[in-house]
Amino acid sequence: MIDDNQKKENHKKRQQKIKENVDNRIAAATEDKGLLLVITGNGKGKSTAGFGVVTRSVGHGLKAGIIQFIKGTWECGELNLLKQHGVIHHTMKTGFTWETQNKESDTAAAQLAWTEAKKLLNDESINTVLLDELTYMVTYGYIDLEEVLTALENRPAMQHVVITGRACHRKIIEVADTVSEVQSLKHAFDNGIRVQKGIDW
Ligand code: ATP
Ligand code: MG
Repeated sequence: MIDDNQKKENHKKRQQKIKENVDNRIAAATEDKGLLLVITGNGKGKSTAGFGVVTRSVGHGLKAGIIQFIKGTWECGELNLLKQHGVIHHTMKTGFTWETQNKESDTAAAQLAWTEAKKLLNDESINTVLLDELTYMVTYGYIDLEEVLTALENRPAMQHVVITGRACHRKIIEVADTVSEVQSLKHAFDNGIRVQKGIDW
């Protein structure tokens, strides 16, 4: 039988070991670079996380831009706020929504948004870029994958980019630095709850 003192001692040792490992890993991470983040998967929270990153940047006085590749039916709460803080933004105004299935107008709208995205990816003064729902544009062939990869590769060295959307192409995942897959365990919609202001948009 181990007594309470021994348990405390063992706990302390385990914690010390963990601290040592964490400290070593922190000491080893010395590089700075512009990161490519991908937030993909079927669960809720991808765009919210992307907007969260932009908010974090703006809160530090950094310059950010947002391109939304799908026009939602509702205005976006985060965008309303971030616009007031000088964030550059472009939302696909016409063309692609889940409702339209017109390849020509969808492609034109996607290309227009992509042109705006490329401007941000060429601009050294922009610290953080959110390409919200870009993954679908690549999946549907509205924007060329190789073009996306080239633009990402040639962007300013210190610029951070966040890409959100389901089913991200594996080649984008390969070049990303940090990739998170949001998994759905439950969603209110499945129980007949409609989208809620402040939660879903
Ligand atoms: P959010 O914008 O809330 O962060 P998201 O970006 O992860 O969500 P999208 O695939 O872009 O998710 O879909 C946006 C809309 O679809 C939101 O209204 C969201 O609540 C809803 N949604 C997201 N995931 C699910 C799901 N697993 N089942 C049903 N609806 C979902
Ligand atoms: Mg989204």
